[in-house]
Amino acid sequence: MSAEIIDGKAFAAGLRERVGTHAGDFEAKAGRKAGLAVVLVGEDPASQVYVRSKGKQTVAAGMASFEHKLPADTSQSDLIAMVEQLNADPGVDGILVQLPLPDHLDEHTVISTISPDKDVDGFHVINAGRLAVGQSGFVPCTPLGCMMLLADRMGDLSGKDAVVIGRSNIVGKPMAQLLLDANATVTIAHSRTKDLPEVVRRADIVVAAVGRAEMVKAEWLKPGAVVIDVGINRLPPADGEDKGKLVGDVDFGGASEVAGAITPVPGGVGPMTIAVLLRNSLVAAYRNEGLDVPVDL
Ligand code: NAD
Repeated sequence: MSAEIIDGKAFAAGLRERVGTHAGDFEAKAGRKAGLAVVLVGEDPASQVYVRSKGKQTVAAGMASFEHKLPADTSQSDLIAMVEQLNADPGVDGILVQLPLPDHLDEHTVISTISPDKDVDGFHVINAGRLAVGQSGFVPCTPLGCMMLLADRMGDLSGKDAVVIGRSNIVGKPMAQLLLDANATVTIAHSRTKDLPEVVRRADIVVAAVGRAEMVKAEWLKPGAVVIDVGINRLPPADGEDKGKLVGDVDFGGASEVAGAITPVPGGVGPMTIAVLLRNSLVAAYRNEGLDVPVDL
C-alpha cells in the first residue's frame, strides 16, 4: 500500500490566498490594514530567518508588518515596555515575540504581558485556558495547522483513536486538546510512555511531535493510519553534502508503505505554521474591530 501524501505546502498556499482576500475586505471595512508585530531579541540565525519570512508573508497577504529588532542584551523591563507599547497600539492586531529569548529574559513573564486578544501565537495562559475549557481564543499555529490538514483529509474525527507523541505546551498539549474537542479518543504519549510502539499501533491518527529523527517506524503503525509528522530534524551531512537532510520524527520511507496518508518533511506541517499565524492575525483584527470573522478563515 502506498500512502496519500498530504500536501501541506499546497494547503498553506490556499489558506494564505483566503487570508489575502479577506485582508482586503478587512481593510475596506476597517479603513486600515490588519497588523502583525514581531519582536526579535538578539541575533539567533534561525530566528532571523523565521522573522524575515513572517514579515514577507504578512506583507504578501496584504497586512501590515511591524518588525522590532532589539539587541541581545535588552533588559527584561525594556522588552516588557515594548510589548506594552504594542498592546496599546490600535494598528497592531497581533503580537509575536520570537522564541527562544536570550537566557537572561523570562519567557513566561514576557508572554504573559502580551494582551490575550493580540496573542496570535496562542501561548498566553489565558488562551491555553480558553482552549482547555472550549472557549474561543487563539490556538498555537502549528497544532491548529495540523488540525486543518486532518479535517481536510478525514472530515469528522468523532470516535477516532488518536495518539499524540510529545506533550510540549506549543505542540503536543494543544494538539491533544484540539483532537479531544473534535471528539477523538486521545492518548498523549511522551518520553516516559511504556511500549510506545504498542500505543501507536492502536491509532487511526498519529501526530508525532518529538524532535527525534525518524523515530516512529512503519511497524508501529496500524495499516491505513493518518500520520502527521511535526518533527523537523537535520541529519548529519552525508559525504559531499555541506548540510544534512531535513527529516521528520517518522521514518517516511517505511511509514508511507503502511499509512493511509502522511505529511512529508519538508512540505507537510512546516508551511502551515506561518499560514496559520497570518490567519490568526487577521482573526485578531476582525475581533479587535468588533467585526464578524469570515467562516472560511
Ligand atoms: P519539545 O522538545 O518541547 O517536546 C518534545 C516532546 O517529545 C516532549 O514532550 C517529550 O516528552 C517527548 N519525547 C521526547 N523523547 C521521547 C521519546 N523517546 N518517546 C516519546 N516521547 C518523547 O519539542 P516541541 O517544541 O514540541 O517540538 C517537537 C518537534 O516538532 C521538534 O522537532 C520541532 O522542531 C518540531 N516543530 C515543528 C514546527 C513546525 O512548524 N513544523 C513547530 C514547532 C515544533
